[in-house]
Amino acid sequence: MDLLSRALRSVKPSPTLAIIAKAAELRAEGRDVIGLGAGEPDFDTPDHIKEAAIAAIRRGDTKYTKADGTPELKAAVIEKFKRENGLDYTPDQVIISNGGKHVIINALMSTINPGDEVLIPRPYWVSYPDMVIIAGGVPRFIDSTLESGLKVTPQALEAAITPKTKWLIFNSPSNPSGAAYSRDEIRALADVLVRHPHVYVMSDDMYEHITYGGFEFTTLAQVAPELYDRVLTMNGVSKAYAMTGWRIGYAGGPKTIVRTMAKLQSQTTSNPCSISQAAALEALSGPQDFIAERARAFEERRDLVVGMLNEADGITCPMPDGAFYVYPSIAGVIGKRTPEGKVIESDLDFSTFLLEHQSVAAVHGEAFGLSPHFRVSYATSVAILTEACTRIQKACAALS
Ligand code: PLP
Repeated sequence: MDLLSRALRSVKPSPTLAIIAKAAELRAEGRDVIGLGAGEPDFDTPDHIKEAAIAAIRRGDTKYTKADGTPELKAAVIEKFKRENGLDYTPDQVIISNGGKHVIINALMSTINPGDEVLIPRPYWVSYPDMVIIAGGVPRFIDSTLESGLKVTPQALEAAITPKTKWLIFNSPSNPSGAAYSRDEIRALADVLVRHPHVYVMSDDMYEHITYGGFEFTTLAQVAPELYDRVLTMNGVSKAYAMTGWRIGYAGGPKTIVRTMAKLQSQTTSNPCSISQAAALEALSGPQDFIAERARAFEERRDLVVGMLNEADGITCPMPDGAFYVYPSIAGVIGKRTPEGKVIESDLDFSTFLLEHQSVAAVHGEAFGLSPHFRVSYATSVAILTEACTRIQKACAALS
């Protein structure tokens, strides 16, 4: 008898850990390593949200809540979906979970049967394929190109759908590329999905509020109301409200799926932290103006990073419309030699060289399913980003 679960055997630990471990090793040797791997805003949770949590503790909101979330937070989520996305949900179509990640695994575990396929556009957020495997499904990938702005085309989506396709996981703005789909681009994908009524869509809207230059965020169920019964719209407070550690995510969608997710959650984690739920209630229903201010700060950093990376020899960096990542191509450095004579054959070679040569830690593209690229998170200060990009330019100039 196997000790370990067969499903878990093919699940990789987070690929970012190798770079983080190497960066920690170099720091311990006294090197001044700059980390560009952070998947979280560097801003703090706003004070009014923290105060709401403190008040919840003082009030004694320290007990179990309903397993799928407090009625008050569900009401705030329903109001948010209506206000910001024009979507109508009833309380039994809404669930509150322990972060956005928990929403996704709940949804997959609630719906996947062995052999069901889940379509994942590449480059993807690292956890999607592994979560599909944990749930017993088969990840299938849809490629994108620099020419298409690292977005999937309707043709590529059409070609990827099979009778076994259960879900498409759709993430805009994207981690890791920052690519964001316009209303027209979403409509064109929806036209394909309308022709395949067995395909459900998980719309991962985690970066909804981090968009730039007048980009208009829209979500699938809003753009294509005829798909409403097949879309799970998921979101959370982690990125928009700088609340990654509080662990609150939520979703609205088809009642049968959401009720099954609630059943699973009731038998596994029970409710998300009662105090975090009180904080998330304040986040969603309190003042919202700081969100746009923070997005402007991210935009300034994006412009700086894209400009400086495009000046580095061999790097081509698209200008993304959202999130706080860029995903430059390093096709122009593949085949070049380091001063020590080692040929850069892959994006892992490049990330390793960057770390060893210039003490900059960034995750290689293979971890996100599309090479040769690397991901830079610009959720850090302008001063640090300027220094990091200068070092990347020096690293590229050292290759011949
Ligand atoms: N979806 C995407 C695209 C993400 O980048 C992340 C976090 O990095 C999540 C979901 C999960 O968010 P949470 O921290 O709320 O679990």
